[in-house]
Amino acid sequence: MTKAIRIHANGGPEVLKWEDVPTPEPGPGEALVRQEAVGLNYIDVYFRTGLYKAPSLPATIGMEGAGSVAAIGPGVTEVAVGDRVAYAGPIGAYATERVIAADRLVKLPERIDAQTAAAMMLQGMTAQYLIRRTYRVKAGDTIVLHAAAGGVGLILCQWAKHLGATVIGVVSSEAKAELARQHGAAHTVIGHANLPAEVKRITGGAMVPAVYDSVGRDTFYASLDCLAPLGIMVSFGNASGAVGPVDIGLLGAKGSLFLTRPSLATYTAKRSDLEQSARELFDVVSSGAVAIRVNQTFPLRDAAAAHVALESRKTTGSTVLIP
Ligand code: NDP
Repeated sequence: MTKAIRIHANGGPEVLKWEDVPTPEPGPGEALVRQEAVGLNYIDVYFRTGLYKAPSLPATIGMEGAGSVAAIGPGVTEVAVGDRVAYAGPIGAYATERVIAADRLVKLPERIDAQTAAAMMLQGMTAQYLIRRTYRVKAGDTIVLHAAAGGVGLILCQWAKHLGATVIGVVSSEAKAELARQHGAAHTVIGHANLPAEVKRITGGAMVPAVYDSVGRDTFYASLDCLAPLGIMVSFGNASGAVGPVDIGLLGAKGSLFLTRPSLATYTAKRSDLEQSARELFDVVSSGAVAIRVNQTFPLRDAAAAHVALESRKTTGSTVLIP
């Protein structure tokens, strides 16, 4: 037997149950990973509440982990028993041991420990595709970034600065603003009520070529108003709730804007893209350009407390659950 946090129904943090489950056996193309650390991500909240649907119930939620390969099934070529590995998806991470398709695993460089890996694979590869592929951030760009002191946020602040961009970070408190500035945000704005006016002031009226908005419902329209003509609205999350139907005529009226709703799963669906994304992440972390901040850890069995902290905006940087 092994231990896992499972949900039998959607709901609040109380639906997360610490249970005994049979140790899974790897089938063809699969590996059994003995996990040393599990990453906490906002998407875990969506699967718990039912905003996103788990394939079936009961379900072991969680998208990210790191550890070592304990066994492999037939036909596995990507990893061997004993390899140190990490991954970001698919669902099933809140467990001491889990089975996963071996082509979703990335081997960890010696210099990256399991906690750092579990903290950064999902948030860091998200940061990578957002600023290197969805919109390719260039030196001299100014960008708006919501939840700038969060997990994805602190990584993006550092990485965008490293690329030579100026980050306007949006946060909910002065303490978070200070943290975002320490990690490379050149400007911070507290709350979104006056965001377009603040962006206008900071950019001297030019506005910005890209907004990265993971807050969703509460900030969508304020974000659109921060864009320069032909700018791109990258709506990549729903921490405040899902964005409702959008009148695409607005995109024309506000300056021929682009709108995308990207996901890491699409950007890493091909193994070559997964490997490239992980390699770029390992490089910026190893070089010191991006520091991974594990600002909270919880025992995996206390995942409910971790969810409460994340949803009540009490966390900063990344959070790791220890099996
Ligand atoms: P964070 O650490 O950023 O935590 C969420 C933050 O969102 C909070 O700390 C808070 O920051 C802000 N927030 C704003 N409004 C609310 C609200 N109503 N309730 C709760 N939080 C709110 O989480 P992650 O780094 O794990 O994820 C950040 C976002 O990125 C999430 O929306 C997630 O879904 C998305 N994401 C999307 C991916 C994709 O591929 N599309 C992949 C990975 C993450 P503050 O207090 O400063 O407002």
